[in-house]
Amino acid sequence: MDSPPAPPDRWGRPLKNLRISVTDRCNLRCAYCMPEEEYAWLPKPSLLRFEELDRLARVFAGLGVDRVRLTGGEPLLRRDLHVLVSLLAGIPGLEEVTLTTNGVLLAEQAESLKHAGLKRLTVSLDTLRPERFLELSRRDDLPRVLSGIDRARAVGFAPLKLDMVVLRGTNDDEIQSLLDYARGIGAELRYIEYMDVGGATKWTKEAVVSRQEILERLRKSHGPIEAVDEKNSAPADRYRLGDGTTFGIISSTTQPFCGTCDRARLTADGRWFLCLYARTGVDLGRAMRSGASEEELRTLICDGWSAREDRGAMTRLLELERAALAPVDELRRDPHLEMHTRGG
Ligand code: SAM
Ligand code: SF4
Repeated sequence: MDSPPAPPDRWGRPLKNLRISVTDRCNLRCAYCMPEEEYAWLPKPSLLRFEELDRLARVFAGLGVDRVRLTGGEPLLRRDLHVLVSLLAGIPGLEEVTLTTNGVLLAEQAESLKHAGLKRLTVSLDTLRPERFLELSRRDDLPRVLSGIDRARAVGFAPLKLDMVVLRGTNDDEIQSLLDYARGIGAELRYIEYMDVGGATKWTKEAVVSRQEILERLRKSHGPIEAVDEKNSAPADRYRLGDGTTFGIISSTTQPFCGTCDRARLTADGRWFLCLYARTGVDLGRAMRSGASEEELRTLICDGWSAREDRGAMTRLLELERAALAPVDELRRDPHLEMHTRGG
């Protein structure tokens, strides 16, 4: 680290973790993320080039960020993503560069990503049924995702993580079968509660399957479950079955982890959001393109982080009439509010 770390935020949380959304475009249309027919996209010229993302990542790493996750939109749609991975993997202080993908383009890219220095990989997988995959994502791509997972394992991404967003009445009858699939291939499954983030315009609280319910259902089908005791800022709480199989649950909707949240998000055009639910962000992309020096970028980041009060998911727990974060017309006016723009 070439400068002191960014000061902690108002709740004493350090800045450690940066998620970079490398594109707002996606090749799926998941019902919980992109359910609409039309979207407003970030203008192409505003998307930061790899050298620009690398420059910002270096400033963040100099301020204490030690983990970067690439996300989107669908990150593998960004041409030559492995080139960005190798740039980021060479940044002093960054301990790991990881990626979350829907897996559709993974079979073609797994090897180059591994060679470029990608440490870990998370693949989103909500169903094992082709017809349901089509219904849930509006694309008939389950075979490509499964072969992407196979390829990723073959080139040495282990243990792979699989993320399943659980929606009542849509895929909650696969809670058990996805765990069995993950166990069978040596991957760790993480259940994600359906969140009322920007973009989730069809969100209802009735469709949320809570952590508690997921655990109850798994106890019935898979026997006793114990909590894995670990202290970290990871969003997933981990559990172990009697046979040693571990899995995680990210219960951001019913039991948020805001208290230890050390992450911030950078959109593909360089807007820096301090919370998944934040309505405004710091425009680091514009600052950089207007000629800001390293020192000026550092100051923007330190000032932003030290003023951070966000505990978005906890605040939403207090809302009596809970509904999706933003209505469609607001999302059209400002695509930065979308989950697929700011990165999940
Ligand atoms: N396209 C990639 C993918 O799907 O893995 C990366 C971006 S996606 C926005 C990142 C994660 O956000 C995925 O695991 C996805 O399932 C999750 N996600 C999107 N909308 C969500 C919602 N409303 N509630 C919970 N998780 C959501
Ligand atoms: Fe699905 Fe990820 Fe695309 Fe959202 S960004 S529609 S979660 S694949």
